[in-house]
Amino acid sequence: MSDPADRGLVVVDIDGVVADVAHRLPHLRGRPKNWDAFFAAMADDPLLVEGAAAVTRAAADHDLVWVTGRPARYADVTAKWLAARGLPAAPVHHRPDGDRRPADVVKREIVRRLARSRRVALVIDDDVTVCATLRAAGFTVFQADWAASAGTAPALRRAQHEEGRT
Ligand SMILES: [Mg+2]
Repeated sequence: MSDPADRGLVVVDIDGVVADVAHRLPHLRGRPKNWDAFFAAMADDPLLVEGAAAVTRAAADHDLVWVTGRPARYADVTAKWLAARGLPAAPVHHRPDGDRRPADVVKREIVRRLARSRRVALVIDDDVTVCATLRAAGFTVFQADWAASAGTAPALRRAQHEEGRT
């Protein structure tokens, strides 16, 4: 029996769930890819209002944790962006700097670590591979589909899964 006092965690991705990355994707289409420009532009990501609503709903009866493939060196700009958009304050778990493993592997490791001390009630992510990997690991997952990129933008998918960048 689970403890009824345990609200459980809702684990939420940032890019493609609450942050609209579409305006940054052209930086990944050139050769070579302009990673500095791609990441520098994150401060200007528009808010995805569907994502903000989903997070606000989920946070009403769960404790929120953000899990992002953004490298840890972007922790400050990410925290400022979340606060400026009025999103609930919560811990943010980043991809470690220099960790180039696929996004689903990195996120599975983070979510499993969280699950050692807390019940993970729900994961929200836009990426089909991340969702599949976390479902296979036994987690309940909702795949966000409201972003124009919707986890299928080719440049972003390559960045996340083959190059381990975000
Ligand atoms: Mg995402």
